[in-house]
Amino acid sequence: MRIAVIGTGYVGLVAGAGFSDFGNDVICVDLDEARVAGLKRGVMPIYEPGLEGLVKRNVEEGRLSFSTKIAEAVPGAQVVILAVGTPSAHDGSADLSQVIAAAEAVGRHITDYTVVVTKSTVPVGTAAKVSAALAGVTKLPYAVASNPEFLKEGDALNDFMKPDRIIIGTDNDRARDVLRNLYAPFVRTNDRIVCMDPKSAELTKYASNAYLATRISFINDVANLCERVGADVEMVRRGMGMDSRIGPKFLFPGIGYGGSCFPKDVKAVMVTARDAGHPLEILESVHRVNERQKRLLAEKIIKHFGGGSLAGKTIALWGLAFKPGTDDIREAPSLSIIERLLEAGAVIHGHDPVAHEAITRQLGGRIKLFEHNYEAATGADGLALLTEWHQFRRPNFARLKELMKEPVLFDGRNTWEPTEVRELGFKYYGIGRG
Ligand code: NAD
Repeated sequence: MRIAVIGTGYVGLVAGAGFSDFGNDVICVDLDEARVAGLKRGVMPIYEPGLEGLVKRNVEEGRLSFSTKIAEAVPGAQVVILAVGTPSAHDGSADLSQVIAAAEAVGRHITDYTVVVTKSTVPVGTAAKVSAALAGVTKLPYAVASNPEFLKEGDALNDFMKPDRIIIGTDNDRARDVLRNLYAPFVRTNDRIVCMDPKSAELTKYASNAYLATRISFINDVANLCERVGADVEMVRRGMGMDSRIGPKFLFPGIGYGGSCFPKDVKAVMVTARDAGHPLEILESVHRVNERQKRLLAEKIIKHFGGGSLAGKTIALWGLAFKPGTDDIREAPSLSIIERLLEAGAVIHGHDPVAHEAITRQLGGRIKLFEHNYEAATGADGLALLTEWHQFRRPNFARLKELMKEPVLFDGRNTWEPTEVRELGFKYYGIGRG
């Protein structure tokens, strides 16, 4: 099948590479000329394990190419996938300007029946708006469908190639058949394609992210209660997670959820709900709890050093991306922690395996970055673990103790064993444990 993908971010690039790997002819388009020039040279604009090799192979085998021009990609494509950004507007709603602009640009270049698919996360009712945008610029036949993406950054290829489910939201039978056909090879062993109307598909995506965010805020709230009553949230979460009705995933206490999806999607669906006259009260709390949680670790650090200024103190931070396996720092809790620590006067030494470029773009020289995690900890008055990359899970604590000025650990992910590190002479602070 010939496919055009509009937007080469996390979603568009992974989708484009994934579809081409299954034998389709794919052209990925982006307005960002530097990004496209880089992709043409094999330079990935994002860090995602396995992506570079997948892109390279499909480019070399002639199934995948990149362009800045929608006019080169859309004519003759049977399916056009919109994978552009839907950032938060000022009121928290999803800003659809990229989606509508892309739909109009696509509409101007359709040459025959085309299925225009929205893969971006978009509010209920967007399929109708995309359809109206197309109708405004073309008389040729088209159909629209909502096909939300559920990939996780850090494991995006696996999620895309072996999806838990494929949601196809359309009222058009022909579009449904085209998309079923496109996705059939991805679900060969287990047909997990669910077809529905566009509004339900749009809401399924938000409801899924909102539910996962709810689990995170729930366990964070329980963790904070644990600290008050002397319980250990690690025990509580394990005990809860063994209940098959609950399950263990997304029950890890930490420094709050971040990233390019949960924060913005929770806010967007809250706006949708309020506008519809049915505020989602649970989500209002989920958001509030998360905002509080993002500040918690910095407050613990400040309290440890006397509750006031951190002037003269150096705090080392391990892990800056919003989660392991990615260089994405959009809405990363690390940013809130950094701002609070800087405000208190601390000097910050940071290390992340892949996010230094992104952090430098965002913060300039406000924190000092180190190539090695032990270098970042050298001379530090405290070390905070913010992102649980594998290499931070079992560090050489004896070495750390020698390198640090003061042996104080702030474990934002409950990754280390409190008894073990205390026996080694560290002062240890976790989340929701004594
Ligand atoms: P992104 O910001 O990384 O990428 C979007 C890209 O679209 C940018 O490179 C931008 O230059 C390009 N673009 C914008 N308008 C364009 C146009 N008219 N023509 C061509 N290119 C254009 O975004 P992302 O993280 O890939 O997310 C895209 C959508 O998918 C969002 O709605 C997001 O919520 C959703 N989503 C993201 C993830 C994720 O893990 N990142 C997962 C599932 C769903």
